[in-house]
Amino acid sequence: MSTLLIRNVQLDGNVTNILIEGNRFANLTAPADTVADETYDASGLVLVPSFFNTHTHASMTLLRGYADDLPLFPWLNDHIWPFEGKMRAEDIYAGAKLATLEMIRSGTTWFCDMYWMAEETVRAVAESGIRATVGVTLMDHLGEAEIKRQLDFLANWKDPTNGRISLAVAPHAVYTVSGELLQRCAEAAKANGQTLTLHVSETEKEVQDCIEAHGMSPVRWLDHLGVLSDNVIAAHVVHIDEEEAEILKERGVWIAHNPCSNMKLSSGIFASDMLLKKGCRLTLGTDGTASNNNLDMREEMKFAALLAKVRYTSETLPAGEILRWATRNGAQAAGLDAGVIREGALADAVFLDLENERLVPNFNLTSNWVYSADTRAVRSVLCDGKFVMKDGMVEDAQETIARARQSVKAILSR
Ligand SMILES: [Zn+2]
Repeated sequence: MSTLLIRNVQLDGNVTNILIEGNRFANLTAPADTVADETYDASGLVLVPSFFNTHTHASMTLLRGYADDLPLFPWLNDHIWPFEGKMRAEDIYAGAKLATLEMIRSGTTWFCDMYWMAEETVRAVAESGIRATVGVTLMDHLGEAEIKRQLDFLANWKDPTNGRISLAVAPHAVYTVSGELLQRCAEAAKANGQTLTLHVSETEKEVQDCIEAHGMSPVRWLDHLGVLSDNVIAAHVVHIDEEEAEILKERGVWIAHNPCSNMKLSSGIFASDMLLKKGCRLTLGTDGTASNNNLDMREEMKFAALLAKVRYTSETLPAGEILRWATRNGAQAAGLDAGVIREGALADAVFLDLENERLVPNFNLTSNWVYSADTRAVRSVLCDGKFVMKDGMVEDAQETIARARQSVKAILSR
């Protein structure tokens, strides 16, 4: 088992040495003379948990800034879907690779994805060194043969890494997936031991259309079908009432809040206070860059906290709470013993540079990290006990950027 000794690092206000054995934190107060395969001098750096992004569409990073300032349905129908129709396997890979680069640089070590050609995203994530639960998207319009092929792929897939990647069954939403297919997806997820992820009650229109089609709101409809359980990550969940919140809580559903996307597409304001008081399982996601327009979980925390204060009071969703959604809760939704720096936990973490002006003065690191910092404060990132960014350097960064530019050029010329 390989060992890594982190020397002179700040952790919870103390300077300490941390020993990592294999992919886990082994000793948070290791003697300075501990012998290890690799040593990293973290003087002037503080160690914090990395981010777990519970909802995104990694390959859509190629659509960053392609169409903005439109409502959800015209945005999808007239701009996003036509562009995506021209994307090929190599573009999905190039987009996912760009996304992993951005995530690493901003301190994210796991994401839950929903997109097409999952094997291309898997390839990008495997190379990047971070983790992901890669959603295999299912929609009625794929047709029965393709749906069967995707369900077979989900059932027979093997992780090419050492446990960093899993697949999720990802029925897109209630307005693109029939009740029957939703039930097949839920059965597949249970049988394969996989996460099921989908968009839920993102817009007012989605809710109205669902009531018209099925006589009930999306959350009630999904519960009626038996889809909701503790392996589900439901994205957005903006337009729900207290009874629906109760259902989600009872079923143990993980909710992915996407404040930037909800604001940008004018989808509505998340009921953070109501959901917190109900005791729902709450996490944070960026959604895709087409509606954000980045994958920066730190920025997302700030928007979430501020948006909650717009709707409720200045005391709603304090910094420590939203940080928990973005780290520990997200890791739990991922089924990972991570998101905290604790002996025995998976060694995923971020080194912040205390010399960065946005962290000065340092009355309260959590406050600085949520409200003040930007990604320049991220100096190094660990995932699964290994550096995925070391002193600002990410392997392949230049190739990744060049490949993404090339892909966009090729797509636009088709
Ligand atoms: Zn989404």
